[in-house]
Amino acid sequence: KLSKRLQTIADLVTDGSRIADIGSDHALLPVYLVQSGKSPSAVAGELPDGPFLAAKKQTAEAGLKSVIQVRQGDGLSVLNPGEVDTVTIAGMGGSLMADILEAGWRSGKLAGVTELVLQPNVGEDLVRRWLISKGFVLQGEMILEEDGRIYEVLHAWSASHLKLNHDNEWVYQTSILSVDMEDETKTEWLYRMGPYLLRQPSELLTKKWQFELGKLSRICQQLTLSEAEESRGKEAQYRAEMKQIKEVL
Ligand code: SAM
Repeated sequence: KLSKRLQTIADLVTDGSRIADIGSDHALLPVYLVQSGKSPSAVAGELPDGPFLAAKKQTAEAGLKSVIQVRQGDGLSVLNPGEVDTVTIAGMGGSLMADILEAGWRSGKLAGVTELVLQPNVGEDLVRRWLISKGFVLQGEMILEEDGRIYEVLHAWSASHLKLNHDNEWVYQTSILSVDMEDETKTEWLYRMGPYLLRQPSELLTKKWQFELGKLSRICQQLTLSEAEESRGKEAQYRAEMKQIKEVL
């Protein structure tokens, strides 16, 4: 049985799509997707030896060696263009995730990929920014809690796919993120908190940002005690941020 976090990701993958799971560790997600019949085939990518071997072992034990290819390499470099429809990346920071996506984009590895399901552990805004900058369209966002941690899952379609199939959503999405582009603060918080999550605020979203407020408040308390000149500026910046979070929530 998959964890709630991985199950949420699996549920978002479109039926019938060939997937690549990058940073797959034990390849739990590709094994599930193929076993459940959702994906006809999969690639599991890993960089270090340990998780690469773990993925190989898991795949062999599941008897799926012929349909799940486990490959060792950095990010999307393990893919051949046009080989998969969906890329999943989960359980790493948003900054690393955006770097992996960018490198894959530049080397043409994302050509033909129509769907991305991404679960950054932190720095979700960096992933949203990357998606929008490349014309990927956020199609939905999920927030969940597991073992005391709150996770967000981002579901995006490539613009080419949407233009063909979902013209209305494309227009809709573009309008969400381009409203008030001059209103930088508002746009910043759409990226940080997520346009879909903000549209239907949940207890979990509030909990997540209350937790962030708590962190910022503790930092400010420390800064208040500090004599250093630069602490004043930082404190003011964090206090402004806290005010904005409270306004948005
Ligand atoms: N995706 C699984 C999940 O969500 O449960 C595993 C997450 S694990 C915390 C992150 C994995 O990403 C590690 O196994 C790590 O080796 C892998 N990783 C980190 N950087 C990578 C890169 N540049 N290319 C491929 N895999 C990478």
